[in-house]
Amino acid sequence: MTNKTDTTTTTVNPTNDAPQSQSAVSVYQQLRGHLAVLKLDAAAQALPQVLQIAAEQEWTMTYTLEHLLGIEVDATEARRLAGRLRFACLPTPATLDGFDYDAAPGVDRALIRELGTCAYLESATNVLLIGPPGTGKTHLAVGLAHAAVHAGYRTYVTTAADLAARCHKAAIEGRWATCMRFFAGPTLLVIDELGYLPLPAEAASALFQVVAQRYLKTSIVITTNRSVAEWGEVLGDTTVAAAMLDRLLHRSVVLKLDGDSYRLRDHHARTQNQRTATAPTRRTLQ
Ligand code: ADP
Ligand code: MG
Repeated sequence: MTNKTDTTTTTVNPTNDAPQSQSAVSVYQQLRGHLAVLKLDAAAQALPQVLQIAAEQEWTMTYTLEHLLGIEVDATEARRLAGRLRFACLPTPATLDGFDYDAAPGVDRALIRELGTCAYLESATNVLLIGPPGTGKTHLAVGLAHAAVHAGYRTYVTTAADLAARCHKAAIEGRWATCMRFFAGPTLLVIDELGYLPLPAEAASALFQVVAQRYLKTSIVITTNRSVAEWGEVLGDTTVAAAMLDRLLHRSVVLKLDGDSYRLRDHHARTQNQRTATAPTRRTLQ
């Protein structure tokens, strides 16, 4: 059987290319072979074009190589970003740039900008977003996740109810350790909507374990409509809630959101527009 990627063919002397075309073709084929073995597909694909431009514009060897490998690096980065985005399961396309600060009085713009740099991930700082429904908690949490994915961090977004359900299923199926490893993995874990849905009894211990194993190692962004004083009630266990909060808050940024619901604001604006559009217009009789 012949090996298609075997590159142990005759070496061409780069200083003596005679007969010119013969050697050039063989070196070109060897180069394509090297790129294929190294799985540098984007560079292999761009090679003929790059060599042609390099010859036309008399690029130096260094510049040509840099250009060719730059194409491969760009393709690799785009592939990795797409992979991180797929893994993250962002529920909406919300970004920090798309956050309207005028509609969110009291939200510290400088603090959000600072969080947007992702520096907090390096110190395993947690972020708590607390406020009533519609005030932009999920928007900001997804925006932070979006920023983290683009900065190269492995990120995963889930809801408290979904996390609890997955842990419960894993426990029944004997995959508890694997499930815990999964939630320990991402550099940023977003847990949305703690407090909205009633959680089953075992959810408190699942959430506690996820928080405990990430403590001081990796960050959690958590959104909730309930004040921390109510977490005992939310989790149905005041001792576990206290232990969990102790770890979450030890190194954390707490953001309180308040004001009117953005959803209702939108709704009111639409209703107002409709009223204006359908109001009978008074005409002057001529
Ligand atoms: P919460 O999670 O606090 O209930 P969301 O973040 O889901 O609220 O916000 C509800 C909707 O309103 C979403 O579509 C969100 O993008 C939008 N929204 C809320 N606050 C803002 C804001 N300040 N700027 C832009 N969009 C906002
Ligand atoms: Mg929400």
